[in-house]
Amino acid sequence: MHPGQEKLRESAQRSVTVIGAGVAGMSAACALAEAGVRVRLVEGRSYLGGRASSYLHPGVNEVIDNCQHVLFGCCTNLIGFYRRIGVADRIHWTSEMTMIEPGGRRSRLGPFKLGPLSLPAPLHGAPSFLNARAFTFADKLALGRAMRAMVRPEAMKDTRETLSEWLRRHKQTEGAINRFWRLVIASALNAELDSIAVPYAAKVIRELFLNSAEAGSMGMSTVPLSELYAGVTPFLNERDGSVLLNTHVEGAAWDEATGKWLICTRTGELISDYMILALPFEATQKLLPHLPAEEGAEKLARQIERHEHWPLCSVHLWFDREVTDLEHAVFLDREIHWMYNKSRLQTGRGGHYIELVVSATRAFAALPREVAIQQALTELAEFLPTVKEAKLEKVALIKEVRATFGVPPGIDAARPQAISPWPNCFLAGDWVQTGWPSTMESAARSGHTVAQELGLNVGNPMNCVEPDLKPRGLMRLLSPTVP
Ligand SMILES: Cc1cc2nc3c(=O)[nH]c(=O)nc-3n(C[C@H](O)[C@H](O)[C@H](O)COP(=O)(O)OP(=O)(O)OC[C@H]3O[C@@H](n4cnc5c(N)ncnc54)[C@H](O)[C@@H]3O)c2cc1C
Repeated sequence: MHPGQEKLRESAQRSVTVIGAGVAGMSAACALAEAGVRVRLVEGRSYLGGRASSYLHPGVNEVIDNCQHVLFGCCTNLIGFYRRIGVADRIHWTSEMTMIEPGGRRSRLGPFKLGPLSLPAPLHGAPSFLNARAFTFADKLALGRAMRAMVRPEAMKDTRETLSEWLRRHKQTEGAINRFWRLVIASALNAELDSIAVPYAAKVIRELFLNSAEAGSMGMSTVPLSELYAGVTPFLNERDGSVLLNTHVEGAAWDEATGKWLICTRTGELISDYMILALPFEATQKLLPHLPAEEGAEKLARQIERHEHWPLCSVHLWFDREVTDLEHAVFLDREIHWMYNKSRLQTGRGGHYIELVVSATRAFAALPREVAIQQALTELAEFLPTVKEAKLEKVALIKEVRATFGVPPGIDAARPQAISPWPNCFLAGDWVQTGWPSTMESAARSGHTVAQELGLNVGNPMNCVEPDLKPRGLMRLLSPTVP
């Protein structure tokens, strides 16, 4: 238990209704329940997890994630949330990334290790990068130059320059742009290069490639995503809290006389001292006309209008045989970007199940189902020739049109703080101001931030926000302080 939480428990038991049970809502609810607040977690759908969840797909009769979700060692708040609900050991970690070119040539990226020997950050990944056949010598020089520039304080300032302009200015080669920036960075941020603000790209570069090998290691769940949250309801119940599923919130009124929120749902009214809106920006926008008129609400409405969605697609394929021995790979020069061997990654998963992810492409998301599947299969066979002999047993295509929000230059002004325009009400969700792009870490961080703000509001400060991993090695000297 964090300092201050015991004190919060001792104070009169306050009640909070958390609206939205995505990662943001769940992490806020669990942190608050642990601190002694009576929590009611309310979700419109019939399951927990929001955009990061799994379900039984009727077409293939398999439980699938709505898309592969990966995390990294630097996602300290998400890992803290997993730890709190006892599922941190269900994440499989890897530091290796295999890049495959059409035709099958492979390059491996990852930290250098020779027995107990390793290299200090940011040099830990240098030997494998210099060895990678996917990049020419000119690409490597250009990328080295860009990485050096990304650790400088200027890269942290949002100068309104887009990443594509910055890359041109830093003389990036075509190979570096297509095989690194477009692939790794544009897909990590799920947007095209001309729609990305430089500080967000710099953050990804520093966290995944420079700060430390630990920060850049990649985690994947060994169980379907929703199974990760199976412990959330018992966790809350054991702490005097509750979860209401299938409960869509339609509006709320602040009762000045009692100092309580009256929350209107399709199935009845809920009353609580505090309210947390842990919703995506578009759901917050829909609720705004049904919340009390407050001066700041108009500003919030204008901020929301500046957000836009980016799609993510996943193709789930079951073959009659194993088509690769890799757990995971990155594909170069084609529409499909990421391959996850789910039969190897998820324990107890039979069959030969491969998931392909196509990020940041509106064109692919607009393709008719059969065309999209055929394209994915044709491309997959270019990387993994065994696919040509294998029989496809079943397939599902998932298009998430509203997967993530974009991070174009100037977006920070449109990301609100946790404190809302209304009394005793806080905002959470991946899109609020966390400094992180649209990720589960941003959602968990916002959840922990509102829990912390609520503690302050009741006069009992507590530390819920997990600290960042400290840069290691030489990066301790090179890390910029934000001007
Ligand atoms: C296809 C896809 C792939 C992704 N890949 C990754 C990845 O690899 N790594 C990563 O870190 N992130 C990834 N993300 C992003 C990540 O899923 C999100 O950033 C994160 O899950 C957002 O969590 P949240 O709690 O802020 O919002 P949500 O998950 O959207 O949760 C909001 C919840 O509120 C509920 N709700 C809405 N309106 C109401 C209402 N009026 N009343 C009651 N409930 C309501 C919704 O049903 C939902 O459950 C991906 C997202 C998608 C869609």
